[in-house]
Amino acid sequence: MTTSTTRSSAQLIAAEDTVLAHNYHPLPVVLARAEGAVVEDVEGRRYLDLLAGYSALNFGHRHPALIEAAHRQLDALTLTSRAFHNDRLAGFAEGLAELLGMDAVLPMNTGAEAVESGIKLARKWAYDVKGVPADHANIVVAENNFHGRTTTIVGFSSDPEARNGFGPFTPGFRVVPYNDLDALRDAVDEATAAVLIEPIQGEAGVLIPDDGYLAGVRELTRARNALFVADEIQSGLGRTGATLAVEHEGVRPDVVLLGKALGGGIVPVSAVVASRDVMDVLHPGEHGSTFGGNPLAAAVGGAVVELLATGEFQRRAAELGKELAAGLDRLVGRGVVRYRARGLWAGVDVDPELGTGREVTERLMAEGVLAKDTHGSTVRLAPPLTITREQLGEALDALGRVLG
Ligand SMILES: *Cc1c(COP(=O)(O)O)cnc(C)c1O
Repeated sequence: MTTSTTRSSAQLIAAEDTVLAHNYHPLPVVLARAEGAVVEDVEGRRYLDLLAGYSALNFGHRHPALIEAAHRQLDALTLTSRAFHNDRLAGFAEGLAELLGMDAVLPMNTGAEAVESGIKLARKWAYDVKGVPADHANIVVAENNFHGRTTTIVGFSSDPEARNGFGPFTPGFRVVPYNDLDALRDAVDEATAAVLIEPIQGEAGVLIPDDGYLAGVRELTRARNALFVADEIQSGLGRTGATLAVEHEGVRPDVVLLGKALGGGIVPVSAVVASRDVMDVLHPGEHGSTFGGNPLAAAVGGAVVELLATGEFQRRAAELGKELAAGLDRLVGRGVVRYRARGLWAGVDVDPELGTGREVTERLMAEGVLAKDTHGSTVRLAPPLTITREQLGEALDALGRVLG
């Protein structure tokens, strides 16, 4: 047996293949160090990170303010459980609520847990406040959604890979086409607890709904007395050039689900953010999490909120997003069939003649750029919001070369 520091990338990949579950198919690169938008593999090769941990690394790798907050907290207190209070949690939750202009926070850990918590909150609200008969609440979701991997969540996925073989599933969900207000209007009824959607569908290929869709969802849910639950786990916290993607339509949901970037790329931190009256349907003992709201998570999450409160990252995403779109414009007809982009986030449909999305990401890797395909021939680009203009230019040049 050898230690990891003496093993090559190829040896580590082979060892992973032997011992790990085969539920992923990573690019053949083994990372060992990183800073900002640059990651380095075991052999010292450097790459630009154009995935940013699916937006878990919005502030780049090892942002100094976040690392400092984590270090400081490691030296003071790391875990209490919610059986006791800790001195980090209030500040984190106050800051997050203020950032979103809402008033109540339920801290969890992973994104899927925030979604599960949002589902439980909406159902409880339907029974306690709306007066839906016991066990009759429904939640309306969109086709091609991605909300996580728990059995309840994959049960309302329309992706056969995510869902097949994992039933039987939790009842109480209705799936309607995304970006279709008429379908939504038909599905929402007096037993609807909530409409749960992503303001931009990330895993589906960065699908941006038509202008007016999110405002329409808001209007409909208000008129039918159902909650609007926005899953901003990937779209939120600066990625699109705003704190939340719903802001592009000036919309305020009843419940916002956050995760990924909230943990600053250091620890898993997620949250359900809502108004006090909605959140107050949960009473002691009715929901919880051993790790949710732990002091280390709260210290890192609090530092993330402080970064976002400056507005600097949202501005960067908006400004550099224009360069990303301009760069992709130049590639349309030269390997790119079409793309969708908002802020520093793009789904790029490449000409299938040039290969699958996976093959394109393999070629990008050889050019020193790490990205991730989604379905078919779509490549998703989501660099850290801290990426420099030059680095973004390099990444776009590399994309041009592999498609040219
Ligand atoms: C990643 C993601 C989730 C699930 O988050 P995990 O931390 O992987 O459980 C849920 N919703 C959206 C929109 C996501 O992108």
